[in-house]
Amino acid sequence: MLLEVRHLAASYDGVPALHDVSFTVGEGEVVTIIGSNGAGKTTTIRTISGQLRPDRGEILFRGTRIDGLPAHRIAEMGIAHVPEGRRLFNRLTVLQNLLVGSFTRRARATEDAMLERVFTLFPRLKERANQRAGTLSGGEQQMLAIGRGLMLQPVILMLDEPSLGLAPMLVDEIFNTIRQIAREGMTILLVEQNVRESLELSDRAYVLQTGTTVAEGTGAELLESEMVRRAYLGL
Ligand code: ATP
Repeated sequence: MLLEVRHLAASYDGVPALHDVSFTVGEGEVVTIIGSNGAGKTTTIRTISGQLRPDRGEILFRGTRIDGLPAHRIAEMGIAHVPEGRRLFNRLTVLQNLLVGSFTRRARATEDAMLERVFTLFPRLKERANQRAGTLSGGEQQMLAIGRGLMLQPVILMLDEPSLGLAPMLVDEIFNTIRQIAREGMTILLVEQNVRESLELSDRAYVLQTGTTVAEGTGAELLESEMVRRAYLGL
């Protein structure tokens, strides 16, 4: 397994947010964690990327424990985190934002090639390379956030709610982009509230409820599951 999370627990100032989260991500897989507001999706990703120290549990990357390592070390290993809400530098240009993404030694070595790849994937970012990020549309900003994540030359790309706040047409566009990145062989860990679309593109998925993983299956299995249909698809 590329990434393995075992019985993870984490809290904010003593208030538990994760109780028992376990899942795996294999090489080349698209794995999604679905869950409602406050289920702990963002906290799970933040703990993996080293922004939050777990209270209990283990995180293994290629079989080696990484829990407790500082965030920059985890990024250097090729674990990229595209945060919820994009967190762009609004006053910097599109190109400058992208170059922020290749901050590790490993990524800088192949920066030019990766930039080409990002511009091929997102021609609109190339057209707007010198435009300030703050003036992009919501969909373009999300593309830029994903592009910046790719600039890390990731081994695994973690996307936190990439469809959040986008109009339905743009949601489709973002999911198509994720599909394309996956087709090129990228391993992706996605967390999403947009359950149907994300299950449709996932190899496997996990359901997170109040900080605990309660179900898992292939995307197709979970789309059929009575619990998922009732709790997340309103059927
Ligand atoms: P959403 O889809 O709304 O972002 P989520 O599944 O990503 O939800 P988290 O953001 O991980 O959920 O939140 C899990 C729990 O941790 C919630 O109860 C939330 O209130 C709490 N929490 C999240 N961030 C913080 C923080 N910085 N300080 C204190 N509590 C927090």
